[in-house]
Amino acid sequence: MAVTKEQVLAALEGVVSPQGIPLPTTGTLSEVVAGDGKVFFSITVDAADVKDWEPVRKRAEEIVRALPGVRSALVALTAERKAGAPSARPPPQRAKGAPPRGESIQGVPGVDAIIAVASGKGGVGKSTTAVNLALGLSALGLKVGILDADIYGPSLPKLLAITERPQTIGGTRLKPITRYGLTVMSIGFLIDEETPMIWRGPMVISALTQMLREVEWGTLDVMVVDMPPGTGDAQLTMAQQVPLRGAVIVSTPQDLALIDARRGVSMFKRVNVPVLGVVENMSYFLCPHCGTRSDIFGHGGARHEAQRLGVPFLGEIPLHMTIREKSDAGLPVVATEPDGPHAQIYRDIAGKVREQLKGASAGRAAPKIVIEA
Ligand code: ADP
Repeated sequence: MAVTKEQVLAALEGVVSPQGIPLPTTGTLSEVVAGDGKVFFSITVDAADVKDWEPVRKRAEEIVRALPGVRSALVALTAERKAGAPSARPPPQRAKGAPPRGESIQGVPGVDAIIAVASGKGGVGKSTTAVNLALGLSALGLKVGILDADIYGPSLPKLLAITERPQTIGGTRLKPITRYGLTVMSIGFLIDEETPMIWRGPMVISALTQMLREVEWGTLDVMVVDMPPGTGDAQLTMAQQVPLRGAVIVSTPQDLALIDARRGVSMFKRVNVPVLGVVENMSYFLCPHCGTRSDIFGHGGARHEAQRLGVPFLGEIPLHMTIREKSDAGLPVVATEPDGPHAQIYRDIAGKVREQLKGASAGRAAPKIVIEA
């Protein structure tokens, strides 16, 4: 029988902190994710106490691994110290509403800027745009990573034709995959496709923490995060938990999609993440045979909406067979047809995002971070 989170927490009562306190009551545990025989969670402690906590981490892992029904267990020790905050702090808790953010979120060491690519609803081409935007930023000479955080439908394995699994380093850290010069990690590597949707929501914090902090991202100028579509609790939690420099919203031109895009813009505004701009995807149809352009969805809506909302408009991507075929075959156009017209459009958008990032970094004080694995 599969192990439950409650069973894991009960077992962890038998593991004590260096101060002799049962682990579940120390306030250092992230959400415990347990399912399909796999368990993972992290323990967040002050950087200065890491050595004292390593035996606790090890013991926790052993105890969990020994539980019936557990096939693998990964317990990570995440150390942090905020400027002026000398003592251990539990990881930020999920909160509804409009909590203040910014100083309380730790950055990812080595990663200069993290940006979200989001959409108000699914199927608008968010992931396709995220991949090609990441490749566009890379073509501009930046060192770029892409993190697939779409818990409902991770698509990077498909869009980048990745079949291999990331390897673990030293049992606790994951080595990302490299594709077309991008450093890639997908939540699809951590959760099974069969995991029920209803179960995925609560995984958000743990899985995100793992993917941000327990992956060897190396040094990156930009990390592009492909967010789950929509503006519900899971998305809000992510927007709060990831130290985002800004967000790009992808929308199609139809009215209905625009209403959702508007929700996306207000969600990021609500958590004080600057909206770097709106991209209109499937903006117009370019006939692959005759080159005729048809504005089948009434093109231009997103530009207009962006103006109305006072956020930048980043560009229009046509609805084109090549984009779809290439994207779905794991051969993104920016990498495989760099001289084509579509690649140019994505690079132009990337250039605008880079410009916006310069603006977004001004006035946002970077938190001082100390993290050790
Ligand atoms: P989302 O992440 O919003 O669910 P995807 O990026 O997975 O959307 O795209 C959904 C489908 O639309 C995919 O089959 C993809 O290839 C296709 N698609 C995305 N953008 C375009 C485009 N500009 N032209 C043609 N097809 C596109």
